[in-house]
Amino acid sequence: MQESTPAARDLGGRHFAKMVGMYSVIKRIDFCYGHRLLDYDGPCRHPHGHNAVVEVELGTASLDGRDMVADFGDIKRLIKGWIDRELDHRMILRRDDPLVEALRALGEPVYLMDSNPTVERLAQLLFEIVRQHDLPVIRVTVWETPASWATYASAS
Ligand SMILES: [Zn+2]
Repeated sequence: MQESTPAARDLGGRHFAKMVGMYSVIKRIDFCYGHRLLDYDGPCRHPHGHNAVVEVELGTASLDGRDMVADFGDIKRLIKGWIDRELDHRMILRRDDPLVEALRALGEPVYLMDSNPTVERLAQLLFEIVRQHDLPVIRVTVWETPASWATYASAS
């Protein structure tokens, strides 16, 4: 019989913990936005637009009384609702972009960020928004084109 050392037992325990499953659900949300990047030497320094695809992944170790991680209808109402109100068909600009004043003077809607409005920062922003709505977010991915996307995920 093989001797079981404390280290081996510890390893076994961690292995077992890793085997415990987790549920996740993913909701896809589409929206359109315009932006440009400042302090950047590339075509994205000019105003242009994207058809964004957002994937919001929620995860829990156990299901609620309805046997769900979260109701897709709730995710749609809360998160698509927020995106439709704040980001959809708007210019998303860094707060100090000179375009902000010009667009506002024309009555055009803008959404301001402290950072460059890159797809990485949009993923991070939406991760925070989902968390603020008390949904158990583990990952938000944003596609700015079908070939380019960024993810912001919980570290644990
Ligand atoms: Zn772009």
